[in-house]
Amino acid sequence: MAKKPTPLHERGTIKELPSGSLRVTVYAGTDKATGRRSNLTRTVPVPKNPSKKQVREAWQEAEKARRGLVSTVEERRHPRTKATVDELLDKYLDISPAQREVEPEHIKHEQNRARNHIRPLIGEVKIAELDAEVFDSFYSELQRCRRHCTRSKRLVDHRTENPHQCDGRCKPHECKPLGASTVRSIHTILSGALKRAVRWKWLSISPIAEADPPPASTSAPSPASSATAEAAPPPSASTAPS
Ligand SMILES: [Zn+2]
Ligand SMILES: [Zn+2]
Repeated sequence: MAKKPTPLHERGTIKELPSGSLRVTVYAGTDKATGRRSNLTRTVPVPKNPSKKQVREAWQEAEKARRGLVSTVEERRHPRTKATVDELLDKYLDISPAQREVEPEHIKHEQNRARNHIRPLIGEVKIAELDAEVFDSFYSELQRCRRHCTRSKRLVDHRTENPHQCDGRCKPHECKPLGASTVRSIHTILSGALKRAVRWKWLSISPIAEADPPPASTSAPSPASSATAEAAPPPSASTAPS
């Protein structure tokens, strides 16, 4: 399929910041809400007093990020699929354990996590519309309340999930964040499913490469993302396969 070349101004720039780190910026069109130019940006960290090799690697990383961001922009403009996260999960979690080289138990866990945490929150989102902003609010909801309560419903934290007579041990619901390891595993499920979506040619690039799961520590969430859907730089994960 012949593809029109991307206009120059949409191919993005890589600039060296005063700190030495590299700033990748790609024009992403006009923000519908604000009418302002919106950019996708990414910062590739460069260590202090870097060796030549480290500088070269940082530039390679920045170039990879630039290409990724350009594809993300194209993807959003011409989505190949209308599939939702629910539809992707249906298909992904239906792959046989043997084919995925995992234990059947593992897939059962994934199905539970998808049912309890992914589907209720972003199940209806089209996968072509997943971006850093969607993931940011998804992860902050996971860190707010593991039961994803709403104010309208009065919940009770029961003493057991089995059938029981409620007693003093069943308390009015108190929000607790999901554990960091559960959040990580949810991130892994989504990454795995989106990787398949790329393999199935539903997407040309996985949007989750733009998102970082919350750090394993309980540190405060990062400042709210700006209107430019800015992705935080990956914490030293620049060598991890995306
Ligand atoms: Zn109870
Ligand atoms: Zn709650």
